[in-house]
Amino acid sequence: MIQIEHLTKYYGQKLAVDDISFSVGEGEVVGFLGPNGAGKSTTMNMLTGYLSSTSGKCSINGIDILENPSEAKRLIGFLPEQPPLYYDMTTIEYLRFIYDLKRCTLNRREHIDEIIDVMGLREMEKRLIGQLSKGFKQRVGIAGALVSDPRILIFDEPTIGLDPRQIIEIRELIRTLSKDHTIILSTHILPEVQAVCDRILIIDRGRLIADEKTDNINTLAEENRRFTIRILGPKGEVTQFLRKTEGAAKVDYMSSGKDGSSLFMVQCKKGADLRRALFYALAEKRWPILELSPVGASLEDIFIALTK
Ligand code: ADP
Repeated sequence: MIQIEHLTKYYGQKLAVDDISFSVGEGEVVGFLGPNGAGKSTTMNMLTGYLSSTSGKCSINGIDILENPSEAKRLIGFLPEQPPLYYDMTTIEYLRFIYDLKRCTLNRREHIDEIIDVMGLREMEKRLIGQLSKGFKQRVGIAGALVSDPRILIFDEPTIGLDPRQIIEIRELIRTLSKDHTIILSTHILPEVQAVCDRILIIDRGRLIADEKTDNINTLAEENRRFTIRILGPKGEVTQFLRKTEGAAKVDYMSSGKDGSSLFMVQCKKGADLRRALFYALAEKRWPILELSPVGASLEDIFIALTK
């Protein structure tokens, strides 16, 4: 459905995307994950025909995006990192405007009505976009991408700048859309792709370093278990003790509490789980554990695990 071959982009001397190839099949929900500056937006913009590549090729259903841009773009709904919203239009005016721009042939009233319902924008339909919250603005942006009912949706950092509740809502919407769309979603947040994608492509400094099923990434994350632990005991001795514990890859002291306790971040060695051993050992020392919280693997942990 989407085919990217040897895609490369230079901005002047700067190599932003370095020989990337991958394909996405019908119905797949693929996360494009990488730190800021990795080349995600550049790739999304080339894939959607907003930017030309220095070399390489992107095609949608066999249609080359540069040779046949209008035909290929018709198949895609794109939410750029900064959605091109017009703040002095109301939601419904904007969607009608996009409808005309895309030369959509579906029944105008029914189609726009349906999008407004799917995106939960009914109460906002007559409000000026400039007056909407950031979360609702993002919904209007996604609604614009849905006009003309494309089967492929490409979202660039769809939750950036939103508050935690809005993030959950947008993820839910993406999950709903994923039932009958092929989706590529770029993000620098690991839990975001874990929450909605079947497959994860990891890009770092312009290069594709991994193309894995989400389950495999989750396994990697579990094998690189981390947790914070708060212990009541003499800080220096406790630190030494933790560092000597078998299976501990890294122990960082984080802070002290008023009660004399100390908080540590413990990174376990691959496959190790120290929680039980520490419980018994610290009880024997009579250094109580006041709290223990698992911390999800970070993008950096996954990078390290993948590039080892
Ligand atoms: P991401 O979306 O992963 O944050 P980008 O694709 O925006 O990454 O950027 C990739 C690299 O290209 C970065 O180093 C960025 O500074 C550079 N870059 C992006 N856009 C331009 C541009 N218009 N001109 C020059 N360099 C750019």
